[in-house]
Amino acid sequence: MTSLPKIAVYAGHGGQDPGAVAQGRQEKNLNLAVSNAATAVLRGWGYTVINNRTTDVDRSITRDANLANENRVDALVEIHFNSNQGVPGTGTEVFYSVRDTGRGRALASAILRRIVALGFRDRGVKTQANAQGQDAFAIIRLANMPAVLVECAFINNPSDMSLLNTDTMGRAIAEGIREIFPVNSGGGMPAYPGTPIRVGDRSEHVRQIQACLNRAQERHQAIPRLTVDGVFGPRTQEAVITFQRIVGLNPDGVVGPLTWARLQQECQGGGGGSGGGGSGGAPPFPGTSLREGSRGDSVRMVQSCLNRVSQPCGRQLSEDGVFGPRTRDAVTTFQRIFELTPDGVVGPITWARIFSECGQTVPAFRQVSNECTCGSNNEAAAPVADQTQLMQLLLLSMVK
Ligand SMILES: [Zn+2]
Repeated sequence: MTSLPKIAVYAGHGGQDPGAVAQGRQEKNLNLAVSNAATAVLRGWGYTVINNRTTDVDRSITRDANLANENRVDALVEIHFNSNQGVPGTGTEVFYSVRDTGRGRALASAILRRIVALGFRDRGVKTQANAQGQDAFAIIRLANMPAVLVECAFINNPSDMSLLNTDTMGRAIAEGIREIFPVNSGGGMPAYPGTPIRVGDRSEHVRQIQACLNRAQERHQAIPRLTVDGVFGPRTQEAVITFQRIVGLNPDGVVGPLTWARLQQECQGGGGGSGGGGSGGAPPFPGTSLREGSRGDSVRMVQSCLNRVSQPCGRQLSEDGVFGPRTRDAVTTFQRIFELTPDGVVGPITWARIFSECGQTVPAFRQVSNECTCGSNNEAAAPVADQTQLMQLLLLSMVK
């Protein structure tokens, strides 16, 4: 399993050294505000972050470089603001090492892209060498890992300064870091560890769950924000329960194979995106539970959605809006798979879970079922027994 990346986020200047000064602003203060903001965002995602300073104190470049080297961080990002003589310059530039083998430049580019997206002018990624051909910036020269120095904007340019929000800037930098040094190299969470994770547990797995829940929280505000400390306390439990409710899983606060699989799905592929995914597209619950004997459009929607999530195995149900025994069996099987009470009745939780699954671009269910052979050309109705068997197979394959 890949552990979470460790990042050095440093604020340039400090204490006796204000850095650039213009119009009553001191660079050291802006650097610190951005550094603290980026650090908070990264920690929220589960990163280990070390800082050179978190308050207005002197810094030593040599000591700070040693700190990063001794801690064997994966990357170092130092924050500055630019300044010039004459007509104020504008925009953002990011420096990387002349010794770079690829990742430093990639990191510089990713950070720059995010900042430019905020409206700052793109001045490019650069290297800067001294007369000996070494990195002109000492922090980059002394660091043993990919190291970049971000000149966020021009402190002497009023329009750069009016565009600046230090929190947004910090977040943009954090996002750039995450792009190149993702929380997990596979993007998201590793395979299910084999045993359920619950209150009282302390482990790397708990850290991964907390980091993933914090990412889910960006889409689902109801989930409480967590400190990523690897300790499964009551607040983590509350977050798990809230997440389970949102996605329609049994809200028991325990991370078993299905909750883990759903978290994996939530934290795949860079996450945080708008559009698609999640339970956002679920139609409102009709108000009364659907059960055998029910009829109408709501039943038809459930049938259609169940057919969709069980592709490519052919259509199991006729979408006739009549809740018959086959629909009941399909609902029961679905409930079993997703750890809901298997009563064959579509109440609010089952409703939410069915449509959350259906709303996925690639339903988790279908992702797994692609691996099995079920005669994908088969447009004819497959017996429900086959579906049950298939789902049990899926469940086994998820549990591993
Ligand atoms: Zn500076």
